[in-house]
Amino acid sequence: MSRAYLSCIDPACGQSHPLALKMPKCGACGSLLDVAYEFDRVAPADLRRLWRDRLSTSHAADRSGVWRFRELLSFLPSTISPVTLGEGATPLVEAPRAGRWAGEVRLSAKHLGANPTGSFKDLGMTACISAALSVRAQVVACASTGNTSSSMAAYAARAGLPAVMFVPHQGISAAKLVQAAEFGARVIEVRGTFDDAFCLLEAVAAERSLHVVNSINPFRIEGQKTAVVELLEQRGWRAPDFLVLPGGNLGNVSAMGKGLRELAALGLLDRPPRLAVIQAAGAAPFYRGWDSGRAIEPVAHPETEASAIRIGRPANWPKARRELEWTRGLVESVTDGEIAEAKAALAADGIGCEPASAATVAGVRKLRQRGRIPPASEVVIILTGHQLKDPDYILRHQAGPEDKSHVIIDADPDAARRALDTLLAG
Ligand SMILES: *Cc1c(COP(=O)(O)O)cnc(C)c1O
Ligand SMILES: [Zn+2]
Repeated sequence: MSRAYLSCIDPACGQSHPLALKMPKCGACGSLLDVAYEFDRVAPADLRRLWRDRLSTSHAADRSGVWRFRELLSFLPSTISPVTLGEGATPLVEAPRAGRWAGEVRLSAKHLGANPTGSFKDLGMTACISAALSVRAQVVACASTGNTSSSMAAYAARAGLPAVMFVPHQGISAAKLVQAAEFGARVIEVRGTFDDAFCLLEAVAAERSLHVVNSINPFRIEGQKTAVVELLEQRGWRAPDFLVLPGGNLGNVSAMGKGLRELAALGLLDRPPRLAVIQAAGAAPFYRGWDSGRAIEPVAHPETEASAIRIGRPANWPKARRELEWTRGLVESVTDGEIAEAKAALAADGIGCEPASAATVAGVRKLRQRGRIPPASEVVIILTGHQLKDPDYILRHQAGPEDKSHVIIDADPDAARRALDTLLAG
């Protein structure tokens, strides 16, 4: 098996640390950490065949879209079995109408909302909670805009670990809150933003021995990076021109970039897709800071209806910048109005998703208009969350009193005929 260790991402420090480190950051300089590997040399064709053959077994780790690629996640001791709920193995679907709407691109969607708790966070959580067991964590905790906590709650329940979530008071959707509640997570609602909740957790985590499972935990990134491996396998190992993600705390774009780098190092990828990160205009510190090349300016009061990316101080920005630089990446911001239009464009293709996920299509359209994405490009968007994660959003946007596609009638055939005449007129 290949050797794994933790490595500081700051080139000026570059310290290595043992995998069993309890702290999610570098003890020498406080920077973020990577899980780093010395991979065994395996022929690319052999790896591809091994991964494909696992699809036909009934072993739980082989059925997981994360652990099927376990040669790329060789950090668990042999005594620990992965904590899995059958995550991954998500669909890649074409989105022709949304592609036309965005400006004549060949668009498809990798739908990570089709995960056990309805978001891509499950890909990271299976890895992170498994790693937590290997260091005998007693209590896991996160700050969340809703999906991290739903996912943590499910995987912690599965692992038999207590879980505590810090969430912005009235800042997360009811659907996400009830998921976590059903899985038995303890809820601390903080009067403040996500960033306030995260600061609070960081302030008390060490003294209370809370094992933090936010995306600054490098094992989260390891699970999430497999989405890009599965995507390339689904495309016959042909990269698209662009891979587009919404950006909140910037863990997911960091994960995609790391996955692509490792695939390239193993000879499984010739040319990476260009990564594009889309932020909501009211919560776009990374977009604003991208060109300057300096540390980003946090946004004190992030505002957007896309609550999953309502983050003003993205913790993973140095990793995100690194991955965008080597893939010649793009960063864009879109308004809430543009997100709503993009969501409708996807719905016309029969594809539902969270508002934050729809920011990708809105971003593609803007990048097309600016000439940054050429026409007829092959573009894959990452849909990060399930349509039903935020039903209130859809009610606000679709089902107002002026909604012409919805009537209430008595149980009477004539009333049904009249209703059909109105609803299907024109
Ligand atoms: C967490 C989340 C995001 C943001 O991902 P980051 O890794 O924080 O950038 C986007 N969309 C959804 C639905 C999410 O749950
Ligand atoms: Zn360091």
